[in-house]
Amino acid sequence: MKNPALKLIDTDAAEKWQQILADLITDPKDLVEFLALDPAGRPPGLKAQQDFPLRVPRPFAERMEKGNWQDPLLRQVWPDREEEQAHPGLVTDPLAEAGFNQQPGLIRKYRGRALLMAAPHCAIHCRYCFRRHFDYQANTLSRAQWQQSIDSLRQDLQLREVILSGGDPLANSDAQLAWLLEQLASIPQLTTLRIHSRLPVVIPQRMSRELLAMLSNCRLQTVLVIHSNHSQELDARCQESFAELAANGITMLNQAVILKGVNDNVPALKALSERLLQCHVLPYYLHLPDQVAGTRHFLVDADEARALIAALRSQLPGYLVPRLVQEIPGEQSKTLLA
Ligand SMILES: *Cc1c(COP(=O)(O)O)cnc(C)c1O
Ligand code: SF4
Repeated sequence: MKNPALKLIDTDAAEKWQQILADLITDPKDLVEFLALDPAGRPPGLKAQQDFPLRVPRPFAERMEKGNWQDPLLRQVWPDREEEQAHPGLVTDPLAEAGFNQQPGLIRKYRGRALLMAAPHCAIHCRYCFRRHFDYQANTLSRAQWQQSIDSLRQDLQLREVILSGGDPLANSDAQLAWLLEQLASIPQLTTLRIHSRLPVVIPQRMSRELLAMLSNCRLQTVLVIHSNHSQELDARCQESFAELAANGITMLNQAVILKGVNDNVPALKALSERLLQCHVLPYYLHLPDQVAGTRHFLVDADEARALIAALRSQLPGYLVPRLVQEIPGEQSKTLLA
């Protein structure tokens, strides 16, 4: 055990996150009411809502500013009419992942690493998501299929790291995760477990005692990559639980997406990096959004993003400047833009 100091984490958290997940805001009218918004301000896109329904955990909605249609957290989840316009060049599978998805739930693109889609859904629906058109249904794995994926990973002697991605891998129950971790830990050549999840941000109650103990007891070096795009997302509760994870030997990183109208300016990116540091998390990647259908209103131009990174670099220590990357299908790794 890597010296677990469990005192800060709420003992009731285990039951609470399941309840929060069962009680998401899914009706745009409810969110308008909850935030005391003027309903005439931004009528929801009905087709947008049908294609990729609103899904917001209440603890996340609580961090939005009341009455403000421009709120950067609201903008990330609101099913907007702008999504419904077709734009040439925007496709449903921008990363051509279908071609690397030979086995259900497994994507192997980069050397030494394999990505296991370890959850059928997310706690939140982010409108800019590049996997919003992904066929999760076809990739919802039974335990037997997981077993098959794990067996095939076992054969790959170059494998060092397994990345649990999603959907959101932490949407699984602790019992499912325990089983999966045990299987992965039994692959001898594997050294590292990486979890990519937005749940620690949107429902910090997810980081229960049980989960923390499970991660710190695992033989694998654990890296948790959270996903936060704005400093306003990281409240005191997030700060407390991330500090605790870090104190238990878990390496904490953040990936963000640069999004028009959310964080495409120097003060917002600077505040995010500084807030992450307070939470014991270092910035890792800042993704240029992928060209996915329905997300054009979030797109930031590559040169504009490069200029923002240059400005950040002149104002922050190097370790607080994220790597600006883009995923270009066919490349050996993500492509570094700045
Ligand atoms: C991003 C990604 C990885 C991890 O890449 P890193 O540069 O190591 O963070 C692995 N597999 C797939 C399919 C990915 O998209
Ligand atoms: S949590 Fe991640 S995978 Fe899920 S909708 Fe948001 S960006 Fe997409």
